[in-house]
Amino acid sequence: MLAAPLPNTVNIRKAVTRSARYEGSLGAEQIPQFAELLDPASPEIEVVVEFGENDDGQQFAAVEMQGKVVLECQRCLQPVICELSGNSRLGIVPGDEQAKQLSAGLEPLIAVDDVDLWELAEEELALALPVVAYHPDGECEPPKSDRQGRSEDQELGLSEEVSANPFSVLSSLLNNDDTKEK
Ligand SMILES: [Zn+2]
Repeated sequence: MLAAPLPNTVNIRKAVTRSARYEGSLGAEQIPQFAELLDPASPEIEVVVEFGENDDGQQFAAVEMQGKVVLECQRCLQPVICELSGNSRLGIVPGDEQAKQLSAGLEPLIAVDDVDLWELAEEELALALPVVAYHPDGECEPPKSDRQGRSEDQELGLSEEVSANPFSVLSSLLNNDDTKEK
């Protein structure tokens, strides 16, 4: 079991030099964007971040995470618990120019001096989130229509309804991602 929370800010140079490994559990306080999605029964995401330098002398942070979130099942519209896991290798670069030179397999993480591990975890979580969530097949059914009895035609209507009503949290995450690309 992981005990200590992940440190918030880490000095990149020190962490890389020591090949530092950080691990901890993040909850609503550390990843506020996910506060509403965390499963009340296990409201923490476990995160491990390891720093190092590859053979090309590029600094990286390897991020692994695991946890549960509650999403809305797109079939029955009831909550469904989804296991999330993420695994990425990020090349730490000061800007876009250096990002282009990263070795294959490294996604750019633009940072100078320090890296905010909570924010990093939050971004990785957003990437790990499924676009749509469902209960396993056969475990739920579409809700009985609140208008009238269901028919084949309404099956089509339902999917339109769903796409017109995405998770507000998800869309705000996506928007947020855009603004971080600077
Ligand atoms: Zn369902």
